[in-house]
Amino acid sequence: MIKNPLFLDVMPLGEISTNDALEFIFKSIHDRDDGIWLPHDSILIRRLIELFSQRGLDRLTYVRDQIIEWETGAHYNEHSVIIPRPNMMERWNKEELSFVKIYLESLFPTDWTLDDHMLAIDYVVQRYLPADEMKTEAEWLTTRAGLMGKVQANLDAAVALSGAVVDKILGAMPTTVKQADTQFNLPAQQKSMLDFARVRAAENVRALTESVRHDMRSTIINHLEGNVAAVSGTPSQSLQSKLFDRFAVHNRDWRRIAVTEAGEAQTQGYVASLAVGTKIKRVERYANACKFCRKIDGVIATVVAPDHPSKNHDTDVWVGKNNIGRSASPRKRVGDVLVPRTPDEMWHLPAGLAHPHCRGRWVPVIVAEAGDDPDFAAWLQKTLA
Ligand SMILES: [Zn+2]
Repeated sequence: MIKNPLFLDVMPLGEISTNDALEFIFKSIHDRDDGIWLPHDSILIRRLIELFSQRGLDRLTYVRDQIIEWETGAHYNEHSVIIPRPNMMERWNKEELSFVKIYLESLFPTDWTLDDHMLAIDYVVQRYLPADEMKTEAEWLTTRAGLMGKVQANLDAAVALSGAVVDKILGAMPTTVKQADTQFNLPAQQKSMLDFARVRAAENVRALTESVRHDMRSTIINHLEGNVAAVSGTPSQSLQSKLFDRFAVHNRDWRRIAVTEAGEAQTQGYVASLAVGTKIKRVERYANACKFCRKIDGVIATVVAPDHPSKNHDTDVWVGKNNIGRSASPRKRVGDVLVPRTPDEMWHLPAGLAHPHCRGRWVPVIVAEAGDDPDFAAWLQKTLA
């Protein structure tokens, strides 16, 4: 079937909205793409991603179910003495958490004020998505994924990497940047790479937690407002289905963090562990790889120092080279005309991932005769022995 082109006149949008629309059109959006649930092609991080994903999804499902339970009165305790409503600050300690629990249990949800409903959401989020535990999860993922870059750089290519071998390496690995630095005496560049990965992942996990809290509060407000006339003691089916829909979105967000933060840490960790001048090949072969990533598949890149004076953006990579702040759109609107973007505004071959959900990776061009770090290589041999 021949499809007719579909034209859209963006002239009335104005400059800012046109450029926002172009960004959205050219960006590689995987928000509706079920390929995000496929196992990762890199065996080095496949297991890490699945473990991190599963733990996060279990947590989110628990939060969703807890909200449903609280909203339907499952936690109501008829013997509980009604206490004054606690006046809470943003972050609660253990004692404050139990205080809120006692208060909420003492009232059936139909007797809750709107503020009590909000308090219940805050209780569940703070209790089951606690900030420090979420930060630990993020560091666990990125430290191990980053070190998997070092493993790749020091691994004898003759060692066949099976899932069991990777599990063995994972089991022996430290879980924090501090431990990794102490154990392997990391060069400054590798330590700094792990720190960036750790802080960025923690930030994204924190943003997800905040977005769950905000989204749940909004969902409950809208639901209660829509049902003012229909308040009853029985659970509203529609609230449950609304929560299921909303959590499907949060689950995808969590999966994005798993795939993106692990992939970014592993690829940057690999580049950080290679000697300047090493040649590596980009691999971008997975379901639904975007146009940009298909274009960089197979590109041979040279590792250069980040402060190299004349870096080639198409053929050189260096630690920290990414696409943040760059655009995938070849043109931008200036006033009332579309003008080509300059190369330094455009996505380029990154050392890490090209964009969120990108599954790009690197493979060595020539089998390395010696890795970056004899001590680390010895540790690896011992672990695998
Ligand atoms: Zn892509």
